Amino acid sequence: MKLLLIYAHPEPRSLNGSLRDFAIAHLETAGHQVEVSDLYAMQWKAPIDVNDAPGYDDSKPFNPAIESQRVFAAGTQPADIEAEQAKLLWADAVIFQFPLWWFSMPAILKGWVERVYAYGFAYGVGEHSERHWGDRYGEGRMEGKRAMLVVTMGGWASHYSGRGVNGALDDLLFPIQHGVLFYPGFTVMPPFPVYKTSKMDAARFEQLSAAYAARLDSLFDDEPLPFRRQNAGDYEIPALTLKPHIAPGRQDLGIHMGDGIQSEG
Ligand code: FAD
Repeated sequence: MKLLLIYAHPEPRSLNGSLRDFAIAHLETAGHQVEVSDLYAMQWKAPIDVNDAPGYDDSKPFNPAIESQRVFAAGTQPADIEAEQAKLLWADAVIFQFPLWWFSMPAILKGWVERVYAYGFAYGVGEHSERHWGDRYGEGRMEGKRAMLVVTMGGWASHYSGRGVNGALDDLLFPIQHGVLFYPGFTVMPPFPVYKTSKMDAARFEQLSAAYAARLDSLFDDEPLPFRRQNAGDYEIPALTLKPHIAPGRQDLGIHMGDGIQSEG
């Protein structure tokens, strides 16, 4: 299979660097093709701005979405954006690996998402009408591809448990897993979290890499997170609220998980 690793850490000799090297070697030994986008090494440009919009008419206010749509449709996007989109289209599965920084992804990775996920590529796809609010949340350009987060954290597992002070990890990762991944159509696998990173040593790293290897080996067999598909009947259109008989009375993020499993396009 073809795997793409989107990797965001500034230091190759870090724990993240070790996990990256481990994953590449393990996947290649298993016979997969691996591409890596090492965002710091590539000196990835994070901010979206007028330089991303060749031909922009600066007599009008700069609108990032409209300009993104224009250059995507015209085939005049910057080469770095086009190259990342091509890697996404090539891949059967994408792994996003990063340290949790301030409860989210590092800014360089957020900037990768903002620039690579162009209007017409990752959003604004499909019919947009009162009957069908786009191909998104389970449908879209990334349909049929799997994605998984590999996230390292200083905090302990208990800090990220259901009653943990940091908030439940599922909730903190919801904007990424449901928003960034499920929205453009990825089948989202459960994350691979690494807690308490300052307490790492050789013995723990060995256990960690064995557990990571097992997750990589079963990436195409494991059950995905059961996010509800927008256009499968659970939501009112065009309000896009969950129908009243589903999870009645609840308003937590967990209501967007169904009992069923995401279908894979
Ligand atoms: P490193 O610091 O490189 O390594 C961690 C430990 O692993 C070190 O002791 C190192 O010696 C050891 N190690 C590395 N490689 C190996 C190996 N091959 N074998 C054995 N041991 C090894 N944490 C949170 O929980 N929540 C937050 O919101 C959060 N926000 C942060 C914001 C910022 C800006 C920063 C800088 C940190 C934040 N942290 C937070 C902590 C952060 O998530 C962790 O520091 C990070 O995940 C650790 O990953 P690393 O690759 O940088 O580890």
